[in-house]
Amino acid sequence: MNVIEISEKLGTDEQCIAYLEGRRWPNGVRCMTCGGDKISRIETTSQNKVKAARRLYQCLEPSCKQQFSVTSGTLFHDSHLPLHKWFLAMALITQAKKGMSAKQLQRHLGIKSYQTAWYLGHRIRKAMEEKGGDPLMGIVEVDETHISGKYDKRRKREPWQTTIVAGMVERGGRVRTKKIPTASKQVLVGMVQENVHPDSTVMTDELAAYKSLSSVVAHHGVVNHRAEEWVRGEVHTNTIEGAWSLLKRGIVGSFHKISVKHLDRYLAEFDFRFNNRKNATIFDLGVSQLAAKAPMPYRELIGKPAEEPF
Ligand SMILES: [Zn+2]
Repeated sequence: MNVIEISEKLGTDEQCIAYLEGRRWPNGVRCMTCGGDKISRIETTSQNKVKAARRLYQCLEPSCKQQFSVTSGTLFHDSHLPLHKWFLAMALITQAKKGMSAKQLQRHLGIKSYQTAWYLGHRIRKAMEEKGGDPLMGIVEVDETHISGKYDKRRKREPWQTTIVAGMVERGGRVRTKKIPTASKQVLVGMVQENVHPDSTVMTDELAAYKSLSSVVAHHGVVNHRAEEWVRGEVHTNTIEGAWSLLKRGIVGSFHKISVKHLDRYLAEFDFRFNNRKNATIFDLGVSQLAAKAPMPYRELIGKPAEEPF
């Protein structure tokens, strides 16, 4: 759905609640505590602009009696933003090839505080994270790139310090990117072993760390960038380099440098958009994932990560 369709089909609170209910419980409402399907509904309609429509569910299981709403226990949890704005944000982010900054979101959606827009953006990125999945197959290009982090006064990180991001992409298929601690043989070969099917052909540049890849995949093609060789028949890494250029234009153009702490979520956003580039229902998928994932409290988001590798 694009923003026009959202205005037409998801313009009222009632429409938004009904749509989200369908995404969250495609087979009928289930109690979020006991999983029971005997549920009664308590509804209020929107009387005026101040009072939004609400729908509460009451579990009828005598030992449970849980009362909940369509957003309880999901990434929407505790949000004061109307669902309509959440949906517009999802549509804008899934359609923005280079991503969308909190500032842009704030402007487009008429959100009062920058923090609210920033938090909204990160919850949408969280929804886009895809863990696991089938191994990548066929011809898979593997490469790594350096992303410069934002200067952080508290942690005294120098502006030129960079983070390494590794990427793997199936030609004509899916991409997976991730932050890695070092571009060592152990890390890169381990990552390929974990994410790429052993029958695949992997294409890389001449970096020494990739040398032992032929022990974990069927074929390993190497293009020698140092010798100014870019393409030798099927042997090249142009697909992953295209993905890097998009990611970097996003970081420079939309986000104006991002914090290393949140980098994984930005990578998830880029992967999600890339992997669903031909998916006509990318918006519905994004909303389903917002409804399927547990809340991400603000304090958790801004708090220090449990482990800081840098
Ligand atoms: Zn229950």
